[in-house]
Amino acid sequence: MKKLTGSRNQCAGCKEYFNSNHAFEKHRIGEFGVNRRCKTTEEITNSGYRLNKKGFWGEPITDSDLNLMSSGWGKVVADGVE
Ligand SMILES: [Zn+2]
Repeated sequence: MKKLTGSRNQCAGCKEYFNSNHAFEKHRIGEFGVNRRCKTTEEITNSGYRLNKKGFWGEPITDSDLNLMSSGWGKVVADGVE
């Protein structure tokens, strides 16, 4: 069991760990009540996610992340992708 702090969470479905709620939500695909499911590890990887050193899936750096870094949120973003 990994230590879950901040917005880090573990999926009850696939048991993968995610670095943020946003990253978590985006690994769920399909429609509620129809074919809702988790992406496979391969699908997550293909979506550009990166497994950080602590074993949490984080989303790739985007332009908006870079803007946040330059505005002083660098530590938060860096923690998410290391
Ligand atoms: Zn899942």
